[in-house]
Amino acid sequence: MTSVPLFVAGEWHQVSNRATGPVFNPSRGKVIAEVPMCTKDDADLAVEAAAEAFPAWRDTPPVERARVFFRYRQLLEENFDRVCESITCEHGKTLAEARGSVYRGIENVEFACGIPTLLKGETLENLARGVDCETMLQPLGVCVGITPFNFPAMVPMWMFPLAIACGNTFVLKPSEKVPLSAVLIVELLEKAGLPKGVINIVHGGRGCVDALLTHSKVKAISFVGSSPVARHIYETGTRNGKRVQANGGAKNYLVVMPDADVAKTVEALSVAAFGCAGERCMAGSTTIAVGKAADRVLPTLVEAARAIKVGPTDIAKSQPDMGPVITAQHRDRVIGLVESSEREGAKVIADGRGVKIGDAPNGFFLGATIVDQVEDRMTIAHEEVFGPVLNVMRADDVDQAIEIANRSAFGNGAAIFTNSGKTAREFKNRVKAGMVGINIGVPATMAMFPFTGWDESFYGDLHIQGREGVQFYTQQKVVSTRWFGHGVGDVWKK
Ligand code: NAD
Repeated sequence: MTSVPLFVAGEWHQVSNRATGPVFNPSRGKVIAEVPMCTKDDADLAVEAAAEAFPAWRDTPPVERARVFFRYRQLLEENFDRVCESITCEHGKTLAEARGSVYRGIENVEFACGIPTLLKGETLENLARGVDCETMLQPLGVCVGITPFNFPAMVPMWMFPLAIACGNTFVLKPSEKVPLSAVLIVELLEKAGLPKGVINIVHGGRGCVDALLTHSKVKAISFVGSSPVARHIYETGTRNGKRVQANGGAKNYLVVMPDADVAKTVEALSVAAFGCAGERCMAGSTTIAVGKAADRVLPTLVEAARAIKVGPTDIAKSQPDMGPVITAQHRDRVIGLVESSEREGAKVIADGRGVKIGDAPNGFFLGATIVDQVEDRMTIAHEEVFGPVLNVMRADDVDQAIEIANRSAFGNGAAIFTNSGKTAREFKNRVKAGMVGINIGVPATMAMFPFTGWDESFYGDLHIQGREGVQFYTQQKVVSTRWFGHGVGDVWKK
């Protein structure tokens, strides 16, 4: 059985005498590795290693730091299939989905390659007579990243490339459910020539995380995961004087207007709801059908859901359309939410419960499910399901649709499908979500834009990715300078 290693001060090593947790291949329901539940001592060693590496890395010119990431990008391309297969094996998403997610991760590395430009400050000559003023963006020190199970490589790559390119050192604590892909991408970063201690990796759950959150040498924490944990991270981190950006869960609404293009809308809804088996913070979890849109779209949508082929993803050929969910417990929780919606009066019009996969009988599978007639009073209308389940609600007009969407405690994504520019404009202005799609079902932002969750989908001030990411990982210094002896304007007299 593989035991997942730690990477501290440039050395890979195993820890003994630690509790361990299972890493599953969800397609088979089989344990493929054991992950150590790191203790405070392990977390402390990783932070100390990062703190020791910081002064030299901070003083490394940004162009040299960028070169490490150019080499890293190349290594990620060369090892692309290995990384994707690792994701598929421990997470269960299809190879096509794994490939898409690794490309999104690589784009973050490419963004980090632009660090010499991104770190440039501003200057104003003659702020006062003989006084010049400039801004500098300086790194913070040791930064920590704590990541969820659903994107084993991409979400860590939202964090460490930019943090490190800015001149910080880093401790990554990946999800204990999917630590193998994180180990692989850190190995590749080591091969790209990163000095010892600049990146470190520890594993486990709350015990390890809390030690990182309270360590006096940690300056900033990036977190992605569920909202209750995001709130805990934000509150504990900020109480201990850290900068924190904490992305939480979501419940994203897809509004379909009666004038929407049926075929294209159904395709987009299906991908948004069932892509990655619904285990995405940007998954479209509720469709709000406006007026006659339900009659136009639902029959084709049900057909599309029933046609989705579910199966094991750890095979090179004949990949299914959708893989398993992450654990048996999670599958049972999702089924429980669908059952509760039935008890409360909703109707299951495409039923993926009880799906049987002959060649993978122990996998954690669920088929695409559509729950119609969902109402605000039902549990499933509010809780994040995080599985291949699409709720359907009805509205009389776009105003009512916006009102329903805006009742959500979350605020990650929202989308509208329409051919009317006026309706789309109204929607984008008034909907309460940080990422909005117009005829796009998953408006997740790419590396050069911030990932702008609102409300309970985000705790903090500066979001992950883009220029906000650079601001998060740096502190500004404003320098005012005066040199005595030279008059202003001498040159021009000649
Ligand atoms: P999770 O909150 O259970 O775990 C996330 C991380 O926090 C893991 O590394 C885990 O070990 C750690 N953790 C768990 N409980 C903890 C605790 N009590 N104290 C300290 N650390 C703890 O999330 P998950 O199940 O791995 O991921 C799914 C969730 O992540 C969903 O809610 C999804 O919406 C969210 N997510 C959000 C975004 C976003 O950008 N908003 C992106 C991806 C996933």
